[in-house]
Amino acid sequence: MTHGSGRLWAIREVTSRSIRSLPDMAEGTKVRELFGSNTFDITAMKQKLPKPVFQSLQETIRRGTKLDPSIANEVAHAVKEWALEKGATHFCHWFQPQTGLTAEKHDAFLTFDDEGLPMERFSGAQLIQSEPDASSFPSGGMRTTFEARGYTAWDPSSPIFIVDGPNGKTLCVPSVFISYHGDALDNKTPLLRSMEYLSEKALGILRLFGDRTSVRVVPTVGPEQEYFLIDRAFYALRPDLVSAGRTLVGAKPPKGQELEDHYFGSIKDRILAFMQECENELYKLGVPIKTRHNEVAPSQYETAPIFEEANVASDHNQLVMETMSRVARRHNLACLLHEKPFAGVNGSGKHCNWSLMDSQGRNLLEPGATPEQNLEFLVFLVAVLKGVHNRAGLLRAAIASSGNDHRLGANEAPPAIISVFLGEQLTRILDGIEKGEIAGASGMAKISLGITKLPEVARDYTDRNRTSPFAFTGNKFEFRAVSSAASISIPVAFLNAAVAEALGEFEQTLTVRMGKGASLQDAVLEVVREAVVTTKAVRFEGNNYAAEWVEEARRRGLPNLRTSPEALGELVRPEARTFLSATKVFSEAETEARYHVKMERYIKDIEIEIEALRSLVATHVLPAAYRQHQLLASAGGGKAIVSALDKIAATIEDMGARLADLQAAAERAAGEAALEKKATGYAERVMPAMAAVREVSDRIEESVADEFWTLPKYREMLLLV
Ligand code: ADP
Ligand code: MG
Repeated sequence: MTHGSGRLWAIREVTSRSIRSLPDMAEGTKVRELFGSNTFDITAMKQKLPKPVFQSLQETIRRGTKLDPSIANEVAHAVKEWALEKGATHFCHWFQPQTGLTAEKHDAFLTFDDEGLPMERFSGAQLIQSEPDASSFPSGGMRTTFEARGYTAWDPSSPIFIVDGPNGKTLCVPSVFISYHGDALDNKTPLLRSMEYLSEKALGILRLFGDRTSVRVVPTVGPEQEYFLIDRAFYALRPDLVSAGRTLVGAKPPKGQELEDHYFGSIKDRILAFMQECENELYKLGVPIKTRHNEVAPSQYETAPIFEEANVASDHNQLVMETMSRVARRHNLACLLHEKPFAGVNGSGKHCNWSLMDSQGRNLLEPGATPEQNLEFLVFLVAVLKGVHNRAGLLRAAIASSGNDHRLGANEAPPAIISVFLGEQLTRILDGIEKGEIAGASGMAKISLGITKLPEVARDYTDRNRTSPFAFTGNKFEFRAVSSAASISIPVAFLNAAVAEALGEFEQTLTVRMGKGASLQDAVLEVVREAVVTTKAVRFEGNNYAAEWVEEARRRGLPNLRTSPEALGELVRPEARTFLSATKVFSEAETEARYHVKMERYIKDIEIEIEALRSLVATHVLPAAYRQHQLLASAGGGKAIVSALDKIAATIEDMGARLADLQAAAERAAGEAALEKKATGYAERVMPAMAAVREVSDRIEESVADEFWTLPKYREMLLLV
C-alpha cells in the first residue's frame, strides 16, 4: 500500500485516459443545421401549425401576452406530432424549484384508445398545466404538506425542447411552478413578473421620447459561466467535493495560478473534446454558445453564450450547467460549479451581462450616434445607477449563498460591497452634467446646449475594471458578483425591478415637469442631474480589492454584507418587502417564504460541510498523522527525529482541540431556535472554526509521507488532466 493507495490508482487512471472523440462530430457539423434542431422553434411551428394558430402563438411569444386557451389543443397536437417524429416517447413540464436546479417528472405519451389499442396522446390541458406532487420542494412554508398541491404551467416565451437520453428522448415544456393559491414556488415566475413590470416602466420612458411603435422592452442577458473540470477519479476520492462541492481541506500547490499561464492558454485536447461535445448538445437545444476559453486558475474554464431575453437566457443557463455536468461524466471528468472549490485558488462566478432592448431590437444602453439618443441613453444609464444605488442590499441578498460567501470579498473576486464602475468617459460626462447644477435653473439651457455638443459616447473597450462587482462595459452592464452555481433568475429579477422602479420615478417626474411647460430635453437633463447627484456614493472607479475601499465604502454608507445570513436579512426589511411587492416580483408572503428557504438552505449547506469535514479528519487526516507519528517513533532517537516527532504529536493535539472547538460552535449554533440566530452562529462561529481545523489539516498534509496521504492533492486535481 503506497501513495494512499487510492491516490496512486487515480493518478494511473488519469494519466492513461484516452480522449473521447466522436467520429461523426469530428467530421464537422454545420452548426446552422444543428442549431435548435431539438427545439420547437419558428421553423417547426410554421411547419406544424395552421397559420392563424401560428400567428396567435407568435403574438403571445413576442408581446408576452396571455396564451389564447382556444389554441392550446392545436398547439399540443402539433408539438406531439413534431416530438413523435423526433422519436420522443415521454413528456414533462420542466421547471425551476427553489433548489436552484431544475425539476422534471416524465410521463409517457402512451395511452389506450376506446378499443384498448395503444396510442400516443398529448392534450392541450397536458401542455398547459400539470400537477406534480409538490410536497418535497422547498416552499418556505408556502405550502403545508397536507395541502401539497403545486402546479406547473407552460411558459410559451421559452422554446419547448427535446432532451436526448441514452436510450430515448423526452419532450420538455418550460414551465412556471406555483402553489394552489398562485404563489410563486420557483425562480422563473418572479423573473417573468419583473420583466413585465420593467417593460411597462421602460415603455413609459420611450413614449415620452416619442416612441409610439415599441410594444415591449425586454432585459437581455448573456451569462458568462465559469467552472472547473477535474478528473473523475480524483473527484471520487474526495468526499468533500462529492458532498459539499468544495474541498474542505487541502494545502495549496506550489504551482498555482501565480505563473498566469492558464488564462486564455491553449486548450488541452481532452478538455476541448468535452467542450465540443457540450456545445454540440447545446446547439441542438438552441443554446447559442459563443465563447470558450481557459480561465485564470489551472483547470478553470469559461463558456459564454450570445445574449438572449432574460427569461430564455436563464433557462438556457440551467441547460448549460446540466449539460456540462452530464457530458463531463462521459469524459471521465467532474464539472465543479461551486464558487470556491479550491481555497486560495481563483473562484468561479457567473458574470451576468445585462441590457435593455426595445421591440425593434434596439439596445437602450447603446450610447448611440446622435445627441438625442444620447439623452435617452443617459436616462436609462442613470436609471441603472439609481436602481443599484437604492437596492444594493437586495442585489447582494439575491446572490447570497454559502458558496458565494467564499468568493465575495476573497482576494480575486468582487467584494460583497455593491458598487458601479462606469469608465472614464461616462464618468466625465456625468461629472459635467452634475456641475451644470451649480448654474441653477437658468443654466439649464446652457447645459442643454452643452449636451448637444457632447462628444459621441463611444464604446470603450479599453477602459476596464476587472475588480468591480457591477461594471458598464460599452453598451451593457456586467453584474459580476453573481454566483457560478446558482440560477440567474433572482439576481436578474431584482435588477430588473430596481431599474424599473427608477424608470417609473423618472417617468412621473418628467411628466409633471413637462406638464408645467419644461421641454423634454430640460426635464430629462434635470432628472439625470438629480440622479447623478443622489447616486454618487455607488460609483467607484478604483480598485475594489483594496482594503481602503472597504473603509471608503463605509464612509459612503454603502452596505457591506459579508455573510449570507447578513445579506439575506435585507430581504425581510420592511422597505424591501414593499419594494418587491410594488414591483410585482414577490408578494410580501412570498418574500417571507424566500427568506426562509434561503436561510434554511444556508444552514443545511453548513451542516453538510461540518459533517463532511469531521469525517474527512477522522478517516483520512488523523490516520495519516498517526502513521507519520508511528514512522517517526520507530525511526530511532536522533535529535531531528525527536523534534519532528514532538511536532507531529503537538499537531495531533492541536487538531483535537480545534475539533472540540468546532463541535462546541456547531452545537451552540444548532441549538438556536430562531432561524436568524442559528444561521448567524454558523456564519460567525462555525465557519471560522472549520477554517481553523482546515489549517491544521493542511499542516498535516504538508508534513506526512506522501504515501500516507489518502486524499488527492491540489496539485494533482488541478494540474493533472
Ligand atoms: P467580454 O469581453 O466581457 O467577454 P463580450 O462582448 O464578449 O464581452 O460579451 C460577454 C457577454 O455579454 C456575452 O455573453 C454577450 O452575448 C453578452 N452581451 C453582449 N451584448 C449584450 C447585451 N446588449 N445585453 C446582454 N448581454 C450582452
Ligand atoms: Mg465579460
